[in-house]
Amino acid sequence: MSLLVTGLASLVTNDPSLGEGRLGVIRDAAVVVDGASVAWAGPASAAPAADRVHDAGGRAALPGFVDSHAHLVFAGDRTAEFAARMSGTPYTAGGIRTTVAATRRAGDAELSARVAALVAEALRQGTTVIECKSGYGLTVEDEARALRVAGEHTDEVTYLGAHVVPPEFGADTDAYVHLVTGPMLERCAPLARWVDVFCERGAFDGDQSRAVLKAGAARGLVPRVHANQLGHGPGVRLAVELGAASADHCTHLTGADVDALASGETVATLLPGAEFSTRAPYPDARRLLDAGVTVALSTDCNPGSSFTTSMPFCVAVAVREMGMTPDEAVWAATLGGARALRRADVGRIAPGARADLVLLDAPSHVHLAYRPGVPLIHAVWRGGERVV
Ligand SMILES: [Zn+2]
Repeated sequence: MSLLVTGLASLVTNDPSLGEGRLGVIRDAAVVVDGASVAWAGPASAAPAADRVHDAGGRAALPGFVDSHAHLVFAGDRTAEFAARMSGTPYTAGGIRTTVAATRRAGDAELSARVAALVAEALRQGTTVIECKSGYGLTVEDEARALRVAGEHTDEVTYLGAHVVPPEFGADTDAYVHLVTGPMLERCAPLARWVDVFCERGAFDGDQSRAVLKAGAARGLVPRVHANQLGHGPGVRLAVELGAASADHCTHLTGADVDALASGETVATLLPGAEFSTRAPYPDARRLLDAGVTVALSTDCNPGSSFTTSMPFCVAVAVREMGMTPDEAVWAATLGGARALRRADVGRIAPGARADLVLLDAPSHVHLAYRPGVPLIHAVWRGGERVV
């Protein structure tokens, strides 16, 4: 069964061979979806026939958002911590332990229902691919459970046993790293695609992070790194050195960090929801883009430092606060996320790509930043199926 979506005032394809600029924008466009894939994209006047027709009525279309960094398997909430922070209490990595305690107490069904609700919330805002990390269990059983629950809702599952050292290990970080790289990894590796570590003062240092990532890689997991969020440190350079898919946060960077990112394959994933929710200075996207670094935008959805599933919100903040143009932010939230997840099938609307399509109640993708906070998502198709 094929579907022609026509009457598009503009279409972001992210394929420069199909339209204008890096976003490959086509005006007065149409898309043909055949089954789960895009069969054709181009000017509406040249569109081939299809079994069914959807008239978009002058709306804009773009690829579904690819949210490459989220922590969705958790219980409880941290409303009080957020309110205290907005009253002047600074953010530290230690707040994660509050969520660990609540998550360990929760039942499997409760956790799964929470993830399902967050994935549905993200989908309503146009997110058609979402990554999900463990990291609030921090025992062998609880981390394996988190990965199983994540895997019920997404293919992009990340083992983050090295999120923070759980309280029962006291200050003995090395003993916990031994668990994360040993028995916990044995149990978790078959349940995940990626391995991640929170390389930060108060969490894991450079040597410990390297041990976690190398052990994961030896079990077939591809590294990604929480790097340079709260201060300068070795995370970004370690990510590049180990060929990580992405270095995430990148808020505090030296010139050497920027040079390393520019010279390697590692995507810099920026998470403005975290700076927004911790009232911290934003990462400098302009500096990274000008250096030629590939930049992705993501929500970092988690109950402590960024409790949002909204990619349109991240796009708007990135444009207003981080020096990105609307085109750069939309690219980073779609094809940038796909690059960070090493996915060639999503993040673009071109023949052969998965048919993940978002229609906006607006004539242009620029409205995502121009009209902040407005619910612009009119319709979403994922894998050719209308889901919103
Ligand atoms: Zn994170």
